[in-house]
Amino acid sequence: MTYRGRFAPSPTGPLHLGNARTALLAWLAARAARGTLVMRVEDLDRPRVHPGMEARLLDELRWLGLGWDEGPDLGGPCGPYRQSELGGRHQAAVRRLRDAGLAYPCFCSRAEIAAAAQAPHGPADDGPRYPGTCRDLSPVEVARRAGERAPAWRFRVAPGQVAFEDAVHGPCRSDVAATTGDFVVMRADGIAAYQLAVVVDDAAMRITDVVRGDDLLPSTARQLLLYGALGLQAPRFAHVPLVVGEDGERLAKRHGAGSLGELRGAGVAPEAVVGLLAALSGLAPAGTRCTADDLVGGFGWGRLPRESARLLVGAVAALAR
Ligand code: GLU
Repeated sequence: MTYRGRFAPSPTGPLHLGNARTALLAWLAARAARGTLVMRVEDLDRPRVHPGMEARLLDELRWLGLGWDEGPDLGGPCGPYRQSELGGRHQAAVRRLRDAGLAYPCFCSRAEIAAAAQAPHGPADDGPRYPGTCRDLSPVEVARRAGERAPAWRFRVAPGQVAFEDAVHGPCRSDVAATTGDFVVMRADGIAAYQLAVVVDDAAMRITDVVRGDDLLPSTARQLLLYGALGLQAPRFAHVPLVVGEDGERLAKRHGAGSLGELRGAGVAPEAVVGLLAALSGLAPAGTRCTADDLVGGFGWGRLPRESARLLVGAVAALAR
């Protein structure tokens, strides 16, 4: 099977060095495998989408030398490449789950349902395990409540472990029923939840390899359940550790690491940024300046440290010199 990888940015905020490193690794994995790279814009979370951000993300990735082969700007055989244009496909998948008895209407009005379009970046975003409030409502009760308001749809999770192999983290397993419980696949407003949209779109775009931040590692088991339920071929996964500040905390302004746009605006060369990202990834010594192309030959998942990459303030300051 020819390698098909993807970038799946959400146009909800600017790229920082952490997202840029994940993008570099996704690009390198695809190029090293002589594969195809797809750009899919994940813009389902409409209130959080910033006008102009999609164009900016695409422009900044190209500035880093990370181009793609199919995408909203280039077209391609698996378009459209913006999730907001794929609602019909998402709805058809939910209908299939519903017809198979694998999704049920949920009338709970929890913040979790409202937030479902957004990818959960870390356990705190996931909320508590769903207690199954609407799991066994009688048809009469469903009809009565549906007359009052539209339901969200939840996937009915079977008990048991989901096991998979991750290119970076090795063997992983998770008991979705015990940790997350039945999860939302479509919100009451008809917008697909992240978990469903990402599966349906990766399958439709024939993605063979997903490279993304390891804050999404806890989502993978849920997605594998959906691949199985929808009879779709699941991709391989590589979850890349996050870039953190010197203190081990999630990257923020106080670490001296501005957005990619700010670095670019300060006159930093793309080769300096790529060199820093390569050094953080075990692909080059500190202080290297190089292009993404220069790194393709030496790329391998075995070189990537499994723990979070610590970004030293001095390393960012040195970029401008
Ligand atoms: N669009 C998601 C995000 O912004 C990424 C989803 C994925 O790679 O599966 O984090």
